[in-house]
Amino acid sequence: NSELDFEKAEEIAMEFDRLVEMEEQVDVIEELLKEEEEDETDMIVRPPVVCVMGHVDHGKTSLLDKIRSSHVTTGEAGGITQHIGAYVVETSNGKITFLDTPGHEAFTSMRMRGAQSTDIAILVVAADDGVMPQTIEAINHAKAAGIEIIVAINKIDKESANIERVKQELIEYELVPEDWGGSTIFCPVSAHTGEGIDELLDMVSLTAEVLELKANPNRKARGIVLEAQLDKGRGPVATVLVQKGTLHVGDAVAIGSAHGKVRAMINDKGKRIKTAGPSTPVEILGLSEVPNAGEVMMVMDSEKEARSVAEKFIAYGREKMLSETKQQLSLDDLFNQIQAGSVKELNIIVKADVQGSVEAVKQSLVKLSNDEVAVKVIHGGVGAITESDVNLAAASNAIIIGFNVRPEPAAKDAASAEKVDLRLYRVIYNAIEDIEAAMKGMLDPEF
Ligand code: GDP
Repeated sequence: NSELDFEKAEEIAMEFDRLVEMEEQVDVIEELLKEEEEDETDMIVRPPVVCVMGHVDHGKTSLLDKIRSSHVTTGEAGGITQHIGAYVVETSNGKITFLDTPGHEAFTSMRMRGAQSTDIAILVVAADDGVMPQTIEAINHAKAAGIEIIVAINKIDKESANIERVKQELIEYELVPEDWGGSTIFCPVSAHTGEGIDELLDMVSLTAEVLELKANPNRKARGIVLEAQLDKGRGPVATVLVQKGTLHVGDAVAIGSAHGKVRAMINDKGKRIKTAGPSTPVEILGLSEVPNAGEVMMVMDSEKEARSVAEKFIAYGREKMLSETKQQLSLDDLFNQIQAGSVKELNIIVKADVQGSVEAVKQSLVKLSNDEVAVKVIHGGVGAITESDVNLAAASNAIIIGFNVRPEPAAKDAASAEKVDLRLYRVIYNAIEDIEAAMKGMLDPEF
């Protein structure tokens, strides 16, 4: 009458010449992770969650710091603001939650785990430098995730600032300012002087209103881990962004292979709190171990249940579970997936040694679109295939094609871990031919 772990069950079954499958476990976990439908009438407006993206040195950190220092009142006695991975600012239009880590790496890796953390991306472009490679990368990441982009043209205090040039350059990426007939919001700002920052925050609130962001606060909380570490005095500490429901001190939680009872919650102002509603980032104490960033947090009915969920994750292995439940697209399997109706878009990332090749490939690929499947180049660029390219591919179910470029070692590892189909070519014609053949189910198998 005692429970067996999977290995033991397998061993015993083997003595009877039987194979044991883990299917049910996966089902249970999948079922738990699934987003359940909610009644519209239970939903109320929640604050937007915003991240800041852009090229290195364009002022992401400065902007986050400026917003924080000018809009977070440390107010209460000894209220030292704490860096917990996110913070909330109060504006005249309500609250806004900012993810405190600039860049898209964190946000892409969360998306790879199937969790969307962000509603709005602020794309920072320095007015004296204009559009740079990481600007383009950020745009493509945000677009692939379907996130609203607001452009902040930064460093307008500088003599060499040229706002018009930035607007002009971004047209190519379908970010057209409203006064030029487009629909993208552009805010000239200075993270140094603070100029334009209130207007930027107003625009974030306005965009959030249009997006009608809502959540039900009266249910068991669900959220996502933004960061986590082992603290010498306090044990495992995780910053969780509550996405729906309300998290309470004393709640039993399961986060991947970690579980526990929320012993204490600390907000971004360093204050102990008892409850945290939708879009609130909180540090939680009381977990059995340090969870991974991007992991989903679920509140369970009891500590026992939370532990059993965590044990299921451990028993089966998170990575294994992910790789088995996640269908990553491959050229070899493309035709079958098209036939099954599970692929309507073929997303491709193109990297090449020269810009000319990127453009040539893009144009030829897009022409391959037919009634069944649309071919889309979601990102193109010059240079080696990077880990960031692989992450984008994994998050967007895309394949990567390289021309006369090689993957960086980290990219190669990530591609095999995430099962991203990565193909290298010397001749453009060969790539086009392969993809065309794959779409028709006539690709020669790779040996
Ligand atoms: P990040 O790499 O995008 O996070 O950029 P940082 O915030 O670290 O800023 C890079 C450099 O640009 C730093 O030296 C900042 O002081 C400077 N910087 C950032 N914002 C502004 C601004 O609005 N005006 C001016 N003049 N300099 C800025």
